Amino acid sequence: MESSVAEFIQFDRITKFYGPLCVVENLVLGIGQGEFVSLLGPSGSGKTTLLMMLAGFEQPTSGNILLDGTAINDVPTHKRDMGVVFQSYALFPHMSVGENVAFPLQMRGLGKAEIAECVARALDMVQLSAFADRRPSQLSGGQQQRVALSRALVFEPRVVLMDEPLGALDKQLREQMQFDIRDLHRRLGLTIVFVTHDQSEALTMSDRVAVFNRGKIEQIGTPRQVYDEPATRFVAEFIGETNLVEGVVETVQGQEAIVRLPSGAHIVSAGSGSLVSGQSVFLSIRPERVDLSETRGDARNCLETEVTDSVYQGDHLRVQLQSAAHPLIAKLGRRSREFPPGTKVYAAFSANDCRVIAP
Ligand code: ADP
Ligand code: MG
Repeated sequence: MESSVAEFIQFDRITKFYGPLCVVENLVLGIGQGEFVSLLGPSGSGKTTLLMMLAGFEQPTSGNILLDGTAINDVPTHKRDMGVVFQSYALFPHMSVGENVAFPLQMRGLGKAEIAECVARALDMVQLSAFADRRPSQLSGGQQQRVALSRALVFEPRVVLMDEPLGALDKQLREQMQFDIRDLHRRLGLTIVFVTHDQSEALTMSDRVAVFNRGKIEQIGTPRQVYDEPATRFVAEFIGETNLVEGVVETVQGQEAIVRLPSGAHIVSAGSGSLVSGQSVFLSIRPERVDLSETRGDARNCLETEVTDSVYQGDHLRVQLQSAAHPLIAKLGRRSREFPPGTKVYAAFSANDCRVIAP
């Protein structure tokens, strides 16, 4: 796990129990100032609980949360200087848009003129200046979420926490908002902690992604690292689609390992970490990294396979293959030729695109 980032937010061995249930377990995570970090994981993996502890709505059972080097466990929510955006917009229905956005400033006791100025700026930031006098119920879902965002930003917090903020929006609007939030992050230099269960959203938006499973972080890294170099089987399967093939390590040489498949085929693979000969492992091969051809090329890894199905999916061709002992999926570019069922083809992939994962 990386610890080189200048740590602005630090979770120091955080554990959280609800009764007998351990929801977050001895978790260590550092977040740099100005960084956009996503907490990604399935429902129930502890993401919201961690965010609520950072916001101050929940207390850790043990461990410390530090902000800029100071423990904030005992600092009340409204003094933590964090804006929070939830999936349910949590707007006050009886207040106008402008009054909703003004609310955090009134809580902080700012004067009328200053409030008006800040609200105007915060609404402008999310392109809602023209809607200040409307009620939330008179806005679309996307507009309401922008009001919530504006309300979280209006007091210029150092940190913005977002819990599945785009979950209730349809695809097109969600993608637009992803872009808008990324833009605000860059322009305002915000530190953002963003909870999502949507892997493509996490890859799209974040500087780094922390992959959660059962209250623990399985891996943290850049989108490229967690996708290209999954550290565990869970990460390989949760992020994107992958082919998982069982094998046994035959030899290890530096960052490469030769792995024998049940069929007897030998595969050169990367990411050998602390492997030993004789060890059972999984290989993770992304479908879009598999090339098909009818002649054996000079790729380091080449398996003899037969096409069992082939589906045109608009932006790619999805080909199902059967090799000696296991199925394989290849995703080919839309310009690829067709491969009718029954075709004998070689499936080729580089050592780098074949990651060894210890179970
Ligand atoms: P996520 O946000 O990843 O979906 P949560 O942090 O909401 O996960 O929940 C993690 C686990 O903690 C779940 O099993 C959930 O049922 C449980 N949990 C969350 N909040 C409470 C609570 N207030 N009391 C008891 N259990 C809770
Ligand atoms: Mg949640």
